[in-house]
Order: sequence, then C-alpha cells, then structure tokens
Amino acid sequence: MRDGAPRTTIRPAGAVLAILVLAGTACARPGTIRHTGAARPPATSTSTTRPPKPSTTIPGDASPGSAGLGDTLLPASGNGGYDVSQYDLAFAVDDTSGPITATATITATASQALSSFHLDFRGYEITAATVDGAAAATERDGDELIVTPATAIASGATFTTAVSYSGEPPLVKDASAPGDIGWLDADSGRFAAAEPNGAKGIFPCNDHPSDKALFTFSITAPATMTAAANGVLVGQEPDGASMRWRFEQAQPMATYLVQLAVGDYDVIDGGTVDDVTIRHVVVRNLDEAARQRLDITNDQLAFFEQLFGNYPFATYGLLIADAPPSFALETQTLTLMPASWLADDPAFFDIVAAHELAHSWFGDAVSPQRWSDIWLNEGFATYAEWMWTDHAGYETLDHLAQEAHAQAPEWRDEFGKVADPAATNLFGPNEYDGAALVLHALRLTIGDEAFFAVLRQWFERYNGQSVTTDQFEALAAEVSKTDLSGFFAAWVHSTIVPPLPG
Ligand SMILES: [Zn+2]
Repeated sequence: MRDGAPRTTIRPAGAVLAILVLAGTACARPGTIRHTGAARPPATSTSTTRPPKPSTTIPGDASPGSAGLGDTLLPASGNGGYDVSQYDLAFAVDDTSGPITATATITATASQALSSFHLDFRGYEITAATVDGAAAATERDGDELIVTPATAIASGATFTTAVSYSGEPPLVKDASAPGDIGWLDADSGRFAAAEPNGAKGIFPCNDHPSDKALFTFSITAPATMTAAANGVLVGQEPDGASMRWRFEQAQPMATYLVQLAVGDYDVIDGGTVDDVTIRHVVVRNLDEAARQRLDITNDQLAFFEQLFGNYPFATYGLLIADAPPSFALETQTLTLMPASWLADDPAFFDIVAAHELAHSWFGDAVSPQRWSDIWLNEGFATYAEWMWTDHAGYETLDHLAQEAHAQAPEWRDEFGKVADPAATNLFGPNEYDGAALVLHALRLTIGDEAFFAVLRQWFERYNGQSVTTDQFEALAAEVSKTDLSGFFAAWVHSTIVPPLPG
C-alpha cells in the first residue's frame, strides 16, 4: 500500500529516464562551471630531466612497464608492471581557483622487473621526481608520465615514487565522460569529479579501478576556507595564515572516486547512524531549508544497511557544490551533488541522493575490474534507487520495473548488451535502468530471500576489491543454488529483452 503522495507531479511520465541519466555522470548543463585550467594537452615527449645512465644493478630481465592495462573501453587508462598500495597526496592552494602546488607520494609493488614505468598524468609542470629517494628521470608522452628510476626495480619489490608538480589543474576531456572532468572549480570552491579517467588531471596515478589503494590527503589553504576530502579528518593545524587539513581514507579506493573540496564551504554535523559519522560539506550560502533536507541521508543509510549490510566506511555525507556540475558523483564517503538540485527539487534530490549513497556498497566498496563492467555499479545503484523510490512513496518499484521493461528493447537496439557497452555509452540508460531491470528479473527468478542474500554476499565477499560480471554470475548461482547460465545469457549477454519472469 502506498499513500497519496503527489508522485505523479513529482515524477511525471517520462521523467524516470531523465533522472537516472542525471544521476549518473551524464547530461551537460553548460555555462555554470568556471574552468580556469587551460585545456591544453601537455607537450609530447618533453624530457624534464635527463635519463640516468644504466646502473650495473639493473636486473637483467628488467623492462619498461606498459602504458595501459588493456581495458577494452579505455585502453590508455592504468599502467602495467606494478600495483599501487597507497597514495599520499599533499596539495597547497591559494584561492578557490587558479594554480596549485602538490606532491604525490605513491607506494607500489612491482609485478615485473621494471626499468621504467608509467603513471597517468595530465598537465602541470613537474618540479621533482624521485624513486626510493633517488632522483628519477621523467618524460611526458600525451597523458602518460614515464618514470625511469636511477636503479631498476626488482620484481616483487615495494617502491616509493614522489612527484612534485605545480600549475593550473587541467581539464580532462574524453569521449567516455559526460563533460569536462578533473579538478573543477566554481565561485565558491573547487571540487573533484573524475569518473571515469579524470584523476590523472589531479595527481599522477594508476588511473584504473582495477588498482584500488589507500589514500591520505594534506590540503593547505587560506584559513578562511574549508577543505574536505575522502575519508576521515585526522588533523587540522594552523600554518601561518593558512590551515593544513589532513584526511585519511583507510579503505581501498579507486582513483576516479577521489574528492577534494576547497573553498567557501560549511561542514554540517549530521550525527551518527550505527557508528557511521554523518557530515556534509555545503556551500556557505545554502539556505536553512535546504540544509535540513540533508537529514534524509540518515534514513537512507539505515534503509540500505538493512538491505545490503553495514555501510562500508567510517563516515558519509554529501558535498553540496555551488556550480552544478550537471551530474552527481559517488565520490567515496563524500558524494558530489549540485546545490541547485538540493535547493530546487527536494524529491529529485532525495532520489538521486539514494542512488549515490547506494554506490558506497556497489561501485565504491565493490568496484568494477573493467569499465565494461559498469552495470555492476550503475544497475545496482539504480535498483537501490528504485527501492528507495518505492519506500519513500514516490513510485512503486513494480511500476519502475515495468516502465524500464517497456523501454529496454529500444535501449538494447541502440546500445547493445548490458555487459558490453561502448566507451561512449558508459553512462547510458542501458547501464542504469536497463541493468536495474536485470536485477529485478533475477529477483523474480530466484525469490526475495535468495536475491537479497546474493546482494549481501556480493558486498561482503568482494568489499575492497574489483570485480567482473563473471564473478557476479558465479556468486549468484552459488548463493541461490540455481543454474543461472540461461538467465544471464538472456538478460546480460543478449540484445533481446526477455519477458519478465512470473
Ligand atoms: Zn550511479
């Protein structure tokens, strides 16, 4: 049963798709983000320091690490030959926009003997680079930073690379992204929006979700500003006329989920939910009514914990940014959301906030191994969003599923199989409602008890890891004790939409 809430005026026919597309990282709303960073690509192959002479200690089998990880959709993203365990990122800013200075310290383990290796990095001037404390040579090749250590790195060795740099944060433009991504700025402050491959415009990295790592952040900014980042605030110290803020993300995180907010923001204490600290970061001019709407977060978190298991991180909240970036993004523990969505459309905000929070379990804690597995992010978050939409009384889940089922043939015609998107359709309806529909069909096939056991097991078993569609299919079959090969062949690996079971 549901009450007579004016859901048809809140969500008129045809609004569902628009909401879900916006809830992803799609749809441009141009003209509101002020980019001060020049969009120029770095010069190709410009040596900043001279490569060292080969050392006699170089292992005989050392060779360069590869420039990519072989991702079929984003082949240049990520780099071969090592696995990052930790990024320690230190930034200094003078204003809400303009140049920055930074040092990224990257701890990684070599998976092969490395004579050199790549980092994904765009823009900036590199002022120093070391590997294990010794000066290293660097070379640029497009968005690749090639580091040649003074001494080759043995396979299995853990090594630390430090890169210092300065300049205007560059925009990252990619056909797979819904707009400019990277470290963006608006009148009241900077914020990060890096999905799928914009982290390279913020710090040198292995910019691929298959290589998750721990993070610490140090942000030095004028004392009049507020800084925030993923994870927990672990220190705040005056530094002359500036303040240094330190944050720690103690659970693994994919690079595209980095958030760094610096500017005229307020921090709102939202209390706790089951030991999870709720804190929001909002533009200072946000009115009181809008601030109070953030309280819904606590109800949403409790609702999803009942369905999926304990929230995976120590803290959660929303970053309400001044200029609409035209999308909300589930940056780990601190979801980016345009202020206008919160201020102008409470129901829309409520539904999108549920979607982004659900990504904490599906996308952030359990991340895609390849970008073609994006339905494991967006389908799950959209299905969670449907459940919240139903729970909150806006629309029934059954109606949402029927609506998606009616449109799915068109989506499959245009975009193909759910588990095989093109790079330009990562954030299309096939991966949102079209993939949520797959989960609904699975629920109807194996029943509620097995379905929610599958969701909880999926999170519990793979929390902190990166996963594939094959792994989900295997887990669903195992937990439900059902042969689902025919089901997944029809629903995930076909362009024909089957009838809904039952
Ligand atoms: Zn999403």
